[in-house]
Amino acid sequence: MTAPSLRTRDAYREIQIYSTQSGACEVDLSDNTNLWGAPPAALRVIRQIAGSAITRYPLPYAGDLRAELARYAGVSSDMIVTGCGSDDVLDSAIRAFAEPGEKLAYQNPSFSMIPVFARVNGLIPIGVPLTDSFDADAGAMLATGARVIYLCSPNNPTGTVLTRGTIEKIVTGADGLVMIDEAYAEFAGMTLVDLVASGRVLVTRTLSKAFGLAGLRVGYGIGTPEIIAEIRKARGPYKVGGVSELAATIALTQDKEWMFDGVRKTITNRERLATELIQRGFKSLPSSANFLLVPVNDCGKVSRSLASAGIAVRAFAGLSGVGDAIRITIGPWPMMERFLDALDASGRLRA
Ligand SMILES: *Cc1c(COP(=O)(O)O)cnc(C)c1O
Repeated sequence: MTAPSLRTRDAYREIQIYSTQSGACEVDLSDNTNLWGAPPAALRVIRQIAGSAITRYPLPYAGDLRAELARYAGVSSDMIVTGCGSDDVLDSAIRAFAEPGEKLAYQNPSFSMIPVFARVNGLIPIGVPLTDSFDADAGAMLATGARVIYLCSPNNPTGTVLTRGTIEKIVTGADGLVMIDEAYAEFAGMTLVDLVASGRVLVTRTLSKAFGLAGLRVGYGIGTPEIIAEIRKARGPYKVGGVSELAATIALTQDKEWMFDGVRKTITNRERLATELIQRGFKSLPSSANFLLVPVNDCGKVSRSLASAGIAVRAFAGLSGVGDAIRITIGPWPMMERFLDALDASGRLRA
């Protein structure tokens, strides 16, 4: 029997299934997750979890977790929407605030999933290059006439931050929703949450990075109650699993000191690694996140050589305004040393 040729969605022809480049490796520095481990109180609660967290449906819109997130972010809980990772919040927000065929403008380079989420929702993604100082180009972004604008600060993969003045210009001039991705806010020690008062800003954050819970898939968005209600419609109920909600709620109440301690250690090691790299002739971009982006001549060659030494990093070919680069997640110093040793060995190979 021949398979019927089902009609597929036109915009999906451009979409590739997400795959991470790293296979088996000894030291995985490729995905910006927390290399200091899992938050201890959250881990304890998962070990003791009650059967009801598994057999019954969780709260449809994660009410308990939202209450803790609201406290953490300094807003009321009707200003919080959760999701299966902040990915889910970004994806839902795009379809809540634009019709298929409209445009989404995003700073380039930035989070690789954004143009994918735009296409998944029938929008046309338009990348707008960052300026030479890695700030957003407010004029060019507004000139696209986009329904949805995506900004990211600190930005993945550059690690750089946007200036507040530029963001304010974009928010003032925009014609639709402005999403500000703060996945790395804890490492920057600053936030733009106050801009949600404008009534057109959604700030997204995640427990996947500083909080060390990437496997539980918990992210959230902060906006006015009106914006949040629309995103909740697009998202649907039950996106955060019961075990995830419980562990994330405990992490927010009992593991905050652990998290901030990890942030401090990460920043110390990030600056130390940047110095070590300079001594080897590599100049990383100024980072406010838990990773360094390091321009290299041939990212494929460097990452393959590191992989053969058991070290996974993320390679980026031909990034706008940067060229080839590798991104290294910051972790405990022995891991950074393993990376440096492997880098030195690859340099010797090239010499
Ligand atoms: C990691 C990351 C996210 C997604 O995190 P989730 O695990 O889906 O919460 C979102 N934005 C940026 C910029 C990221 O680096």
